[in-house]
Amino acid sequence: MRVSQLFAPTLRETPAEAEVISHQLMLRAGFIRKAAGGIYSYLPLAWRVLKKIETIVREEMDAKGGQELAMPVIQPAEMWQETGRWSVYGDEMFRLKDRHNRNFCLGPTHEEMITTLVRGDVRSYRQLPLMLYQIQNKYRDEIRPRFGLMRGREFIMKDLYSFDRDEAGLDESYNKMYDAYTKIFTRCGLTFRAVEADSGAIGGSGSHEFMVIAESGEAAIVYCGDCDYAANVEKAELHPITGQVEERLPLSETDTPGTKSIAALCQFLDICPEKTIKTLAYRTDTGAIVLALVRGDHEVNEIKLLNKVGCLRLDMANEEALAGIMGSCAGYIGPVGFDGRDDIIIVADATVMNMVNAVCGANKLDKHYINVNPGYDFTPDIIADIRLIQENDPCPRCGAPVKTARGIEVGQIFKLFTKYSTSLQATYIDDDGKEKPMVMGCYGVGVSRTMAAAIEQNYDQNGIIWPAPIAPYHAVIVPVSSKDEAQMALAEKVYGDLNANGVEAVLDDRNERPGVKFKDADLIGYPLRITIGPKAINDNLIEIKVRRTGETLYFSSADYLSKVK
Ligand code: ATP
Ligand code: MG
Ligand code: MG
Ligand code: MG
Repeated sequence: MRVSQLFAPTLRETPAEAEVISHQLMLRAGFIRKAAGGIYSYLPLAWRVLKKIETIVREEMDAKGGQELAMPVIQPAEMWQETGRWSVYGDEMFRLKDRHNRNFCLGPTHEEMITTLVRGDVRSYRQLPLMLYQIQNKYRDEIRPRFGLMRGREFIMKDLYSFDRDEAGLDESYNKMYDAYTKIFTRCGLTFRAVEADSGAIGGSGSHEFMVIAESGEAAIVYCGDCDYAANVEKAELHPITGQVEERLPLSETDTPGTKSIAALCQFLDICPEKTIKTLAYRTDTGAIVLALVRGDHEVNEIKLLNKVGCLRLDMANEEALAGIMGSCAGYIGPVGFDGRDDIIIVADATVMNMVNAVCGANKLDKHYINVNPGYDFTPDIIADIRLIQENDPCPRCGAPVKTARGIEVGQIFKLFTKYSTSLQATYIDDDGKEKPMVMGCYGVGVSRTMAAAIEQNYDQNGIIWPAPIAPYHAVIVPVSSKDEAQMALAEKVYGDLNANGVEAVLDDRNERPGVKFKDADLIGYPLRITIGPKAINDNLIEIKVRRTGETLYFSSADYLSKVK
């Protein structure tokens, strides 16, 4: 590729709308252009990076026995109604109607689609295990699309689904994917950590998130330097763990708002469809806190109950209301995010989150949180006592002081067990002749988010510094003067030789000052810049500058090729 022909329109100024570095640099370096909020065109350089990430992902999926297929983006409502997610998914789902007024959505994920597909054609244990995947655009009408490709409304995801006979099989598939994900992000040249994404409730190993470590990450993670404990802080164990569970107090008709609240909340949790609520807290009479966040459609009597115990139902789409409520809690720090698949709603503020976790922890039939005082479930000293694990707290596993970091979720793996196979009747006949639900897992990689995360982790004041395995090109050749025939001739030769030897190179043949070409080379972030100037012509010294280290090396025209490779 010759830079004179390359469609990579670079910008001198940082566009005002871009808050994070990857967004700024991808706009400035001519990688992406915006069509609408959270919806972007990928220009040729970005597309090359995405293809490279996809190739790595594909190779690792295939290595584990994954089979690639392609499912429809447009999905009929019926299968979502069967699992109940048509209503639960809420405003994050892009919905549309056909000319006959039938409901469809643009796939935010594909559990319904794949389970429906597999149930039709898998009947026997002999057809299992099965791992099927695709790499495709996903659609989520994010409440706050932002940070460029980091939180898009149309984005590229690899999603694999595993089908096994039993939980032992699921464990095996899960471990394979854990290993594949580790290889993927290592091969992409990223610094990352796998963290537990489940509270102990599902057993601790039910889900992992793969986090690229970066200051701009939306997630806070905690990890131990001495053992392998690592968790998403929102899911991390409470410290100190003061919660104990005891028999629940019955909610009586005479209870007034502000009393017996935990019992009522527990009751509320019990009557709500499982997993539609992840965040629940409560405003106490001491003026302490907070709210119930409910997602999906709930019956009127549930809302009444909420009002009765003094809680607030909040529509997640109603950002203003949310801001108002969060504004009244001291120290609101985090963004609101929610997980389409499991409807996890996270409202950050460590204190609030702890109360929420405490409440949810007591969310078992006939249980409730023991540290509650009659009338005032969360007194200030209890609130002070419960907090999220922090830097230097003892590791819940080994006791060593833990560390904290911020991360970008680039992938997540989940044990689904029989959640979807049960609701969609995906069963098989086992070797004992019995009909059983398939045991499933799902595994996602945010391909376009990984590209953005790579930049968040690899840049300097001059631009992007691509890790070589996912760089759009490996090298740029810059003749200092495009008018100098000897320089141009040598540059052409180097260009031909590099490409012939598997080094993907572009030739900056533009009639520009060297400073302009150098600036663009740094901004775009080619790992190597090969400069052909008077030194190359007169002294047979080809200058190679390493983007990451800034190191400049000189090689003879006989030597350089073996060095570059
Ligand atoms: P988040 O917590 O950031 O909203 P998620 O947990 O909802 O993400 P998953 O359902 O686990 O996302 O999807 C698998 C992967 O898809 C995520 O790990 C992430 O890398 C990517 N992803 C999810 N939402 C987006 C988005 N809006 N834009 C870009 N990538 C996304
Ligand atoms: Mg998430
Ligand atoms: Mg989400
Ligand atoms: Mg996730």
